[in-house]
Amino acid sequence: MTHRRRWCAGIALALASALTITLAPQPASAEDPPVEQLVRIRVDSTDLLRELEQGGLDITHDVGQGPGATFEATVVTDPAGLERLRTEDGVEVLGTLDGPTREEARAQLKGNAEPLTGRQKDALKPAPSRANKPGRGRPPVVSPDGTLTVLRADTWTTGGQRMVSLEVRSEAGRDDRLSVTADTGQSLTMSAFVDQGTYLYHRQSQPVPLTGDAGSVTVRSGADGSEVTAPLDSWLSSGVTDFPDGFRWGFTDDGYVDSEQTDALIEKLAADNPDVAEVVELPNETVGYGAPGGALAAPASYPREGKTVKALRIGRVRDGSKTGVLLYAQEHAREWVTSLVALETAQRLLANDGTDPLTTSMIDDLDIFIVPQVNPDGVAYALYDDLYQRSNRNPAYCPGAGTNLGVDLNRNFRVGSVHEGFVGASARCPSSTYAGPEPLSESESKNTAWLVEQHPNIKFAMNTHSFGGYFMWSPGAYDAQRNPLPRPSLATEQYFFASSETILSRVREYRDTVVWPGRTGPISDVLYSAAGNSGDDLFYGGDAEDNTPHVYAWNFEVGLPRWDAASQRWVDTGAFWPEFADEGFGQAMEFANGWYGILEVAQAYANDTTDPTSKANVDGRGSYSGPVDVLWETSEPATIYYTTDGSRPTWDSPTVQQDGIRGGALPIRLTKDRTVLQWFAVDQKGNVEGNYDPDRGRGAPQREVIKIR
Ligand SMILES: [Zn+2]
Repeated sequence: MTHRRRWCAGIALALASALTITLAPQPASAEDPPVEQLVRIRVDSTDLLRELEQGGLDITHDVGQGPGATFEATVVTDPAGLERLRTEDGVEVLGTLDGPTREEARAQLKGNAEPLTGRQKDALKPAPSRANKPGRGRPPVVSPDGTLTVLRADTWTTGGQRMVSLEVRSEAGRDDRLSVTADTGQSLTMSAFVDQGTYLYHRQSQPVPLTGDAGSVTVRSGADGSEVTAPLDSWLSSGVTDFPDGFRWGFTDDGYVDSEQTDALIEKLAADNPDVAEVVELPNETVGYGAPGGALAAPASYPREGKTVKALRIGRVRDGSKTGVLLYAQEHAREWVTSLVALETAQRLLANDGTDPLTTSMIDDLDIFIVPQVNPDGVAYALYDDLYQRSNRNPAYCPGAGTNLGVDLNRNFRVGSVHEGFVGASARCPSSTYAGPEPLSESESKNTAWLVEQHPNIKFAMNTHSFGGYFMWSPGAYDAQRNPLPRPSLATEQYFFASSETILSRVREYRDTVVWPGRTGPISDVLYSAAGNSGDDLFYGGDAEDNTPHVYAWNFEVGLPRWDAASQRWVDTGAFWPEFADEGFGQAMEFANGWYGILEVAQAYANDTTDPTSKANVDGRGSYSGPVDVLWETSEPATIYYTTDGSRPTWDSPTVQQDGIRGGALPIRLTKDRTVLQWFAVDQKGNVEGNYDPDRGRGAPQREVIKIR
């Protein structure tokens, strides 16, 4: 059976409102299909979006820039809620999308779905394509008068179409109307990204097709006429590739899974591979799928009582001495694909150990913790009772709240919590983003925090969600004045970006799915604020005292829009419940590739003993007039500590700072006739340039004497 769903607009929307009359009065029961649906809306501002969320509207992860400084979001609502949205000032309803019916959903579950054959799997994977040239990671380009900074100008080809994505900061702010022209004459549109009343930068609502052979874009400010031309840079260096010869993949080929099926599989994997794998039982039991408030349509064999959440630990050496990686999924119950990413990755690792050199060396070098389903009770409810269930199933706070019963586990953490005044969660229930009465009130969140506390060797983490196609890191929350959590250093942000190139290139290799550059970055720079999310808790080590990374924590969203050459549009790929055989399987495969990517990043970190090197754009042989702006190039993402007074640089010396969000390095301005500039670079691992010892003064820092005539 096929249930490929499409967004309905226009006439279909009129039909949807006619349905309101018949569906709305019916009481929900175990036998009724859920009456909620996905609704695509456009709003004037993120303030309104936040207001709607505070009023109880369930907003999915699929939020993005709309035309002319608007925002578009996919929300979950029932027919009555849809009517309210239609009459709300500042909300435009763009279309609706029904979830699968109960029968359609059941047909996609393991045990009901037809397993894919090897031939089917091969047919779903496209033939290898030519890889992009690697990007040069150019620094931002600034107009001569400083009004405009081209933060990013990225290009890539997907589905046979070359795309462009631009981000430009104007010192004239949100009201500056930018005109953008490619060197082919094509004109492009940008609009201001304004969030919480703060102007961030101008961007496009979506990547757009490039015509001809464009190599650069010229941006002109409507405010003061200043102009800047920036070359287009390649985004992601990969193309579609085959797996290595003999590599085994395609394990999660028979449908979406509940936690009984998940547990059975990881127990078997551990039993079959005792030398390299073991099951770790997390200490805090869930309240249970059968807690009051449930409709309970799961098979009778599915347990109603509390569950022990299980992790699979993989590594040749599991004594805490190896670099640890935590890969976890399905905090949000309705995000069905995400546990398949986990189970596929686990099986690829164990099936290819000893035959595939990369897999074998990663199992040698790393200590990998995989939690396929953080939220088993919610998952059971989302599979068997209500497709839209997001939270856990704890009835303690708002019994009788239906789908919204429970706590949003990705808002229940300590750092940047709503209870401390951060934005993007609800302090009251019922709400789809209810943060709980206090941080770590829930067993499921306690389990994640426990795992990291017990295993301080964990330095990398990946939290996987669906859908929207974002790839993000900290800071993930800000307060009502839009002050974010402490920003990572410039070098840390560069490290996140450089690692993202590895991870996202791996995703792309499966079937050419390209995560957009505009959706890659700190959560608060590309999307919104998510108070108390787990990624921030891991990154800041449970306490946002400073910006030192404790765990390099990413957040993935599977389920990206795909470019449709026929209609020349980005099309949706099945929301939370893509049809398993032609889309859900593919999403699991490509993001399992991405999980391999983060393991490669972690392995490179574990084995990194190479000191960074750096080079300033000035030297003592040069002759300079007027003030001199110093910038450094480094061999890898590295922090520059420097002095300009002739003293030896130490850990207390100033460091090169970032020029605003998504910006490059802020130059150091020299104005004196003669400056003794001394510095050293340090990478994320702590390797120091030239073996210099800033503490004890051993070794020599880098040094240039700059004379200005
Ligand atoms: Zn989610």
